[in-house]
Amino acid sequence: MKKTTLGQGRTGFWSGLSLWKKILVGMVLGIIAGAVMGPDAEMFKPIGTLFINAIKMLIVPLVFCSLVVGVTSMQDTRKMGRIGLKSMLLYLCTTAVAISIGLGLATLFTPGNGMNMTITEQLAAEEAPSLVETLLALVPQNPIGAMAAGNILQIIVFALGLGIALTLCGEKADPAIKLFESLAEGMYKLTELIMKLAPYGVFGLMAWVAGKYGLEVLLPLFKVIALVYIGSLIHIVVFCSGVIKVVGRLSPIPYLKGLINPAIVAYTTTSSSGTLPATIKAAREEMGVSSGISSFVLPLGATINMDGTALYQGVCAVFIAQAFGVDLAASDYILIIMTATLGSIGTAGVPGAGLIMLSLVLTTVGLPLEGLAIVAGIDRILDMARTSVNVCGDLMVAVLLGKSENELDETVYNRTTTAANSV
Ligand code: ASP
Repeated sequence: MKKTTLGQGRTGFWSGLSLWKKILVGMVLGIIAGAVMGPDAEMFKPIGTLFINAIKMLIVPLVFCSLVVGVTSMQDTRKMGRIGLKSMLLYLCTTAVAISIGLGLATLFTPGNGMNMTITEQLAAEEAPSLVETLLALVPQNPIGAMAAGNILQIIVFALGLGIALTLCGEKADPAIKLFESLAEGMYKLTELIMKLAPYGVFGLMAWVAGKYGLEVLLPLFKVIALVYIGSLIHIVVFCSGVIKVVGRLSPIPYLKGLINPAIVAYTTTSSSGTLPATIKAAREEMGVSSGISSFVLPLGATINMDGTALYQGVCAVFIAQAFGVDLAASDYILIIMTATLGSIGTAGVPGAGLIMLSLVLTTVGLPLEGLAIVAGIDRILDMARTSVNVCGDLMVAVLLGKSENELDETVYNRTTTAANSV
C-alpha cells in the first residue's frame, strides 16, 4: 500500500503539477536554453510554432460556436443589449485608464532623455485604417469568407446576428441551438487537450526569444521596457484588482490567481485572440463566470479591448517625443488618449498589431514615424507584456459583468484560492 503511494508520487510529480506551474517551468527552462545557446536556440522554435498553430486552429470554431451559444443562452435579447453596452463602456474606460498610466509613467521617468537617437533606417509604416473604415468593416459581406480569413470582428458580428435570430425563432430553432451547444462543448474539450501542450510550446518560444534578443540588445531601451512592464503591473495589480474590489465587491486574489494561466499563454504567444481559449477556460473554470457571459464578453474583449496596447502606446509616444525633442501640449495628451482608445477597437489581437496602430497615434499628434523604427527592435518584448495586460483587462470585465448580472458562481470564484493553495 505504502509502496504504491510512493510509486504514484514519483511518476506523478510532473503530471501532478498544475498547468500554470508546468508552463512556468517550461518558460524558465526556455530562457535558460536561449541564454546558453544564443541564436542556436531557434531550433526549439518549431515546438512553439506547433503549439501556436494548434491554438490558432481553435479560434474560429471556438469563437463562433461559443458566441452563438452565449447569445442563445441569454434568451432575453434585452439583457444581451445591456451586457453589450456595459462591456463596451467598461472596455473603453479601462483602455483610457491604461493609456493614462503609460503617459504618466513616461512623462515622469523621461525614457527618451539620454538615448542615442541616430536613426539609420526608416520603417515603412503600414497605413492604419480610419475609424469609418474600421466600423464599415465590421459587417462581413460573406460570413464564410470572414471565417476563412479569420476575421474575428466580422465573425463576432455574424455570430451575434445568428444567435439573436435563433433566439427569436423560438422552439423551431431548438435543434440548431442544441447542435451549437454540443459543438461548443467539443471545442472546450479540444481546448483542454491542446492546453496540455502549453508547457512545451512555451519552452520552445521562450528559448527562441531569449536566444534571439539577448540582454545587450535590451539595454539601450531598458527604460522603455521597464516602464511598460511597471505600467502593466500597476494596471493589473493596482487598477484591475482595485476595480474588482471596489466596484465588484470581490476579493482580487482569486482573480489574480486565475489569470496566471492565460497571462502566461498571452505573454509567450503575444496574441490575445490566440489566447482566447485559455482566457475562456480560466473565466469559466477558475473564476466561476457563466458560459453565457464569458463566451460573449471575452471574444469581444480579445478583439476590441486592448489595455496593454494602449498603455504601451502611451509610453512609446512620450518616449519618441522626448527622443526627438518635441514638446507635447496638454491637448496632445488628450488626443493621444482618444486616438489610442478608439484605435484599440481596430487593433487585431495578433502579434505586433499594436506597433502598426502606434503609427496612428504618432501621426495624430505629429510625431515622426521614424520613432516606430526605434521601438520596433524591442517590439516582441513589449508585445509580450501588453498582450498579457490585454487579456487580464478582458478577464476583469468578465468578472465584473458576471457579478453585476448575477452570473458569477462565487463558490467557484473563491474556491480557486483554496485549490491553488493546496497544490
Ligand atoms: N499582440 C497584441 C494582442 O494580441 C496586440 C498588440 O500588438 O498590441 O493583444
